[in-house]
Amino acid sequence: MIQITEPRPITETLAADARPDLLGLSREALSETLAPVTDRPFRAKQIYQALYERAVRDLSEITELPRDLRERLDERFRVGLPDVASRHLSADGTAKYLFRLRDGATIEAVDIPDRGRRTFCISSQAGCALACAFCVTGYWGAGRNLTAGEIVGQVLAIRADRDLPMEGLNLVFMGMGEPLLNLPNVKAALDILTEWISPHRITVSTVGILPGLEEMARWERRPNLAISLHAPDEESRGRIMPINRTYPLAELMAALRRYPLEKGRKLTFEYILIRGVNDSLRDADRLSRLLSGLRAKVNLIPVNPDPVLGESMVPPDDAAVEAFKERLRQRGWIATVRRRRGDDVSAACGQLRAFGRDPRGVRARTPKTQL
Ligand code: SAH
Repeated sequence: MIQITEPRPITETLAADARPDLLGLSREALSETLAPVTDRPFRAKQIYQALYERAVRDLSEITELPRDLRERLDERFRVGLPDVASRHLSADGTAKYLFRLRDGATIEAVDIPDRGRRTFCISSQAGCALACAFCVTGYWGAGRNLTAGEIVGQVLAIRADRDLPMEGLNLVFMGMGEPLLNLPNVKAALDILTEWISPHRITVSTVGILPGLEEMARWERRPNLAISLHAPDEESRGRIMPINRTYPLAELMAALRRYPLEKGRKLTFEYILIRGVNDSLRDADRLSRLLSGLRAKVNLIPVNPDPVLGESMVPPDDAAVEAFKERLRQRGWIATVRRRRGDDVSAACGQLRAFGRDPRGVRARTPKTQL
């Protein structure tokens, strides 16, 4: 592991800066916001492009604008790119970013290069209230919703850091938080991001918040949908995912059967494999029955253990993972096993904890759920 930067304290100027943020505004809202300074539509367009295509940190960097306009803009507005508090580069090329937001909240995002592809895994909330038994973010508890600017800002900040264009990226909302509990801001961020990135390259992952799914079903341009399923029946899902008591599996599956899928598209079902909990071949058979009739693929994720999760969160051995996958394949499903990436920098699935918050607590607290 190569540690490039250490967490550093929030700067006073950052905290004290009261200028409104331009990031996260739609084209129309940006024009309206800029109107007192410039009412020329092409200026708003230039600024919009510079914010998102070039990921400028500062309005004074938009040198194609006349100097006096730049100065007036800079006096009144800021570009709220999140501060990179630390960055860890894994031996496999995965980079984990810890961002510090204006109010001091910390979130994580991961840059995952994979052969020709590149995927950013981004956060939608600064924490998570859902308390899934296998998830480190959930262990630390709830945090506030991110603004649209803070969501888009993660993409821009990683791009700026790595000098990457917007084109060619894949995005997954699989970082911290539950995107469907912050849907208005996620939608506003997607409206901007999908100007450059096809919704087919964007995946929103959810535990299955039913009102959120119903709303997404009405969107005109829908990203791919991934469902964190993790267990094939009510009882065992309820034990590892408390949200199952609010939105039971049966209702979730019914909502997914109604969910409009474009031609050729599939739902992704994420299924964490936990030894002795949900990894038997009977579980694979039950899972197969549960999905029957759906256009779906299954992504198996051997659970990533973590000290805060307790002793019971152990992945099955490779042979058991392989057997589970094979059973699903025999039953006609597309099933893949998610490779572990960024393991050495705790960037792997479910390990995003925003270390900046209280790293000492890791030892001080006892695991929340015992299976
Ligand atoms: N709240 C959303 C998005 C964030 S979680 C959701 O639940 O889908 C993104 C993925 O990471 C989910 O599939 C989640 O189940 C998985 N994950 C969480 N903890 C994990 C762990 N310890 N090991 C492997 N995957 C984990």
